Amino acid sequence: MTNPLLTTWDTPFDIAPFDQISDDDFAPALDAALAENRAEIDAIAASDEAPTFENTLAAIAASGEALDKVLSVFFTVAGADSNETREALQREFSPKLAAHSSEFYANKALFQRIQTLWDTRESLELEADDARLLELTHRDFVRAGAALEGTEAERLKEVKSRLAVLGTQFTQNLLADERGWFMELSEDDLAGLPDFVISSARAAGKEKGVAGPAITLSRSLIVPFLQYSTRRDLREKAWRAWTSRGEMAEATDNRAIAAEILALRDERAKLLGYENFAAYKLETEMAGNAQNVRDLLMQVWKPAKSQAEADEWVLGQMMKNDGVNGALEPWDWRFYSEKRRKQEHDLDETALKPYLQLDRMIEAVFDTAHRLFELNFRPLDLPLYHPDCRAWEVTRGGEHVGVFIGDYFARGSKRSGAWCSAMRSQAKKPRVQTPIVINVCNFAAPPEGEPALLSYDDARTLFHEFGHALHQLLSDVSWERYSGTSVARDFVELPSQLYEHWLEVPEVLQRFATHAETGEAMPQDMLEKVLKAATYDQGFQTVEYVASALVDLEFHDGPPPADPMAKQAEILAGIGMPHAVVMRHATPHFAHVFSGDGYSSGYYSYMWSEVMDADAFEAFEEAGDAFDAATAHALQENILSKGGSVEADTLYIAFRGRLPGVEALLKGRGLLPV
Ligand SMILES: [Zn+2]
Repeated sequence: MTNPLLTTWDTPFDIAPFDQISDDDFAPALDAALAENRAEIDAIAASDEAPTFENTLAAIAASGEALDKVLSVFFTVAGADSNETREALQREFSPKLAAHSSEFYANKALFQRIQTLWDTRESLELEADDARLLELTHRDFVRAGAALEGTEAERLKEVKSRLAVLGTQFTQNLLADERGWFMELSEDDLAGLPDFVISSARAAGKEKGVAGPAITLSRSLIVPFLQYSTRRDLREKAWRAWTSRGEMAEATDNRAIAAEILALRDERAKLLGYENFAAYKLETEMAGNAQNVRDLLMQVWKPAKSQAEADEWVLGQMMKNDGVNGALEPWDWRFYSEKRRKQEHDLDETALKPYLQLDRMIEAVFDTAHRLFELNFRPLDLPLYHPDCRAWEVTRGGEHVGVFIGDYFARGSKRSGAWCSAMRSQAKKPRVQTPIVINVCNFAAPPEGEPALLSYDDARTLFHEFGHALHQLLSDVSWERYSGTSVARDFVELPSQLYEHWLEVPEVLQRFATHAETGEAMPQDMLEKVLKAATYDQGFQTVEYVASALVDLEFHDGPPPADPMAKQAEILAGIGMPHAVVMRHATPHFAHVFSGDGYSSGYYSYMWSEVMDADAFEAFEEAGDAFDAATAHALQENILSKGGSVEADTLYIAFRGRLPGVEALLKGRGLLPV
């Protein structure tokens, strides 16, 4: 029988035929695709023709088509809809893929051809798009160690393959802890919880196979529990479980894995001639080096910490007034903060929630994209990997732009968090391909027959992930290597975080925040409160984030710590972490940093991007209209369509005329000293 992963997909927009693919197809398809790709690369490397752009770089870009197809399907389901078989496959695939990639970059004959082209680039008279592909490919090879020989090359290969295995283990341990822990609640234990938390808890209990409601470690359930539960003992229990993910049980303990990862990364950087991993990692980022990152984080840390300390005092007083003695603890913060929000902003999340229907917020996201970029969305009926998935065709002026898929609800088979990935990225060479983009979220699923409701944070996540999707959908570059979100890590969050600003444009909520039962628009005073509350508790949020970013940076900028937990404690003591706030992601569950290399020494990049998104949105404010056509056009022309075809700082200056400073960010977070 033919393997559906390896055939030509005769489907609408060449989307993977999910209904024909079974888990048994992945392993043989991967082996066949790897063999095919290896043969393609060997043929390019062994060519006896003198190297040219066409027979080397364009040929590399044209290779690996089957591999791309297999992996795009596999990684989609492994992340969003896993099971034991898929987890076993992932453990099997990760060293194979690492070895394949190492073999590619260690191919001396291939590197020699690229090096020759690089050395003679002046005389090749390449167009800018091709020259950029040469530049990036050459840099990829050098950074991967292509210039290394003998034992050093051998050792680098071992290090990388071990890192890939450790990253997968880290993720799977975390998932095991997140899946394994839950707290069953009796009727008495529901004290203080609003209806929406109770119904989510009942749904979670059902999924866990228990009679009553249960609290799991899903952020969309545990955060509201910590906000509303009047049972301090249960809050503490839940909070302790939540913050000990990755260190709950011996079999799934991530602490030793983290130490080994840090040591291997340091070794890898040194083999490549860098002082440490941060120096290696930041070379290709907009920030450039660790000191620039530290400077930015500390500029934000100081005002954020003062704000958090002032808030800690206020919340502590509220707790005393409740007759509770002792210090405000981390499991108290969200509870008293929610109470204070109600007192000061009189904004009750429970009353707000019926106005934030998922379907209406999706409409808001699409309408914003229509007004800014003239995009249209048409629902598609396609067999996808899970019945929760929905798909739309994206068009402009009647022309096909791409396909957008949304997979919004939390379930046990999905890893936590929210993300955007492309099953296919835009490119024009060597063949025209249009993007297929997925947003995956973990919103609480509604009880059967009821509309899905979001928290304001969820709605922001929806806009955020769609901002990434736009970066893919509007991409208009030649080569996939630098298409869409293939940009510097500290630039990639600019489009997503910028898009969040439109949720705060009053007319968007006025139109799309309608009550689930009555259909009425959100009352004006509630709307004003929502918008004012956007800067609420930013001291806390900034502190938990910046602390994580600093720990990540210091882990990689210097000798690797033998005991990362001790190092983490030392760093937090050094910056004076407030008692009642903890890192947003502590080391044993810091998946951004340890699941892979993506955000290692790069967690700061959300804030780096926020500096830009705050400043970029000011361009619309200066134009006097959040939907100003000329500014939207400039954004698309200079940033959203350009991918990584040009260096990030050049793109930003083309859009804004200058680089941004930190002021717009502090203003946006309400952290500017008054
Ligand atoms: Zn993002």
